[in-house]
Amino acid sequence: MTVPDHQAAAPLGAEAQYRQALDQGRFLIQHCAGCDRAVFYPRMICPHCGADKLAWTAPDGRGEVYSTTVVRRKPEAGGDYNVALIDLREGVRLMSRVEGLAPDAVHIGMAVRAQVARQDGRGLLVFVPNKEAP
Ligand SMILES: [Zn+2]
Repeated sequence: MTVPDHQAAAPLGAEAQYRQALDQGRFLIQHCAGCDRAVFYPRMICPHCGADKLAWTAPDGRGEVYSTTVVRRKPEAGGDYNVALIDLREGVRLMSRVEGLAPDAVHIGMAVRAQVARQDGRGLLVFVPNKEAP
């Protein structure tokens, strides 16, 4: 991802770039040219090899639930919701939520895919069951 010239004077940090892409409906992770591995959470230096050659890349979006929990809330506060750790095919693990089914129906090993939802005018990464999974 390139930053437009008029913003180049103060380049955005990695997290800000990640959030800006989400706001535009795009889910991006980083890829390290030094060790050829995927990197998440966004950062300036590769946690695997220390190189600063991180480039933005659009992941496949498919993944698998590594762990899942239900956060209980009163109905008037929005009701229960799911929090899950997702392993992407690219080999990174991230925290998100699985939507499109009851929060306690999410299970470990479930095939999911990434989707960018909108919440309060901002992009929000969520996952939904991937029914096309083998
Ligand atoms: Zn690296």
